Amino acid sequence: MKLTMVGDSSVGKTSIALQFTQDFFPHDHKPTITDIETRVLNIEGQDVLFQIWDTAGQDKFRSLLPLYLRGVDGALLVYDVTNQESFKNILTWISEVRRGASGNPVMALVGNKTDLKDYRCVTTQDGENLALEQGMIFIETSAKTGHNVHQAFFEVGMTLCYTY
Ligand code: GDP
Repeated sequence: MKLTMVGDSSVGKTSIALQFTQDFFPHDHKPTITDIETRVLNIEGQDVLFQIWDTAGQDKFRSLLPLYLRGVDGALLVYDVTNQESFKNILTWISEVRRGASGNPVMALVGNKTDLKDYRCVTTQDGENLALEQGMIFIETSAKTGHNVHQAFFEVGMTLCYTY
């Protein structure tokens, strides 16, 4: 399954991808990005290979986004729950995904950095409402603690398995 991570810069796309594929959160440096990471998850008794395309390196090269979106099965649209602007911009990311992806990819709205409780400004309800309105899966994660990271990919995988 080809999955692409999109969202504003610094919301945690690379950290989520690394936490999922390598069970690793880099504390002291900006992670180096390899464009594509993979991991196998067992879903309903079947081994499913996830190929995660991380667009973090493409923030300055939005024109390359269509390459990342071509043929995707699913997209994780990530915002930072402590950054209202990144949540507002999700609408733009939704349009980008719908425009760039052929077909009808499964979309998951991911509110990241839930560990930063004192700084949260986007509520769970805000996220749920947007996801419902746009027909997306909704999940909140912390790439730092690992909370719900596997679950996010699992839910996309489950939805895809039932779609095929
Ligand atoms: P990207 O630009 O969207 O790929 O974001 P990065 O993965 O590079 O993360 C940006 C910054 O946010 C880095 O300093 C990360 O350590 C930090 N970060 C990412 N996810 C989390 C999280 O869940 N909790 C906290 N506290 N920090 C995070």
